[in-house]
Amino acid sequence: MLYESLRKELRSRKYRMTAQREIVLKVFAESGERHLGAEDVYRKLLEKRYRISKATVYRTVELLSKLGFLRRLEFGEGVYRYELATPDAETVHQHVICRNCGELLEIDEQLVKQLVKNVEKQTGYVVTDYDVKFFGLCPKCQSKNKSKADESE
Ligand SMILES: [Zn+2]
Ligand SMILES: [Zn+2]
Repeated sequence: MLYESLRKELRSRKYRMTAQREIVLKVFAESGERHLGAEDVYRKLLEKRYRISKATVYRTVELLSKLGFLRRLEFGEGVYRYELATPDAETVHQHVICRNCGELLEIDEQLVKQLVKNVEKQTGYVVTDYDVKFFGLCPKCQSKNKSKADESE
């Protein structure tokens, strides 16, 4: 289904659906992690013994993001991560990321919507768009830090 809509979209913009574009999208569709950098996509394709160059993967991911099939995420890590973008607004969500290990989680959008409502109330604006990011230390890294501190005592 995803593949069908992609092919239609590509064709309508005079891009061809190539095997590479399909396989890259498939990696996203099948990945449990959901948020992948181009490097991760490349690694996963190698694991599948799919023959593709790194440059092609990077180019393909970039194109798919430009076409709106992938959403590009920037967390100041020096690399971009991507996730499948669905046109349906209900699936828009924000993220929290661990500064230490890079783990990325999705936030319940209701929490963010509440925040937006408060912003509107405070400013009198009608918020039409937002991009919120939360940074911190995940539970795993917190307990690692704690045990390190305990050792050094
Ligand atoms: Zn962490
Ligand atoms: Zn996400």
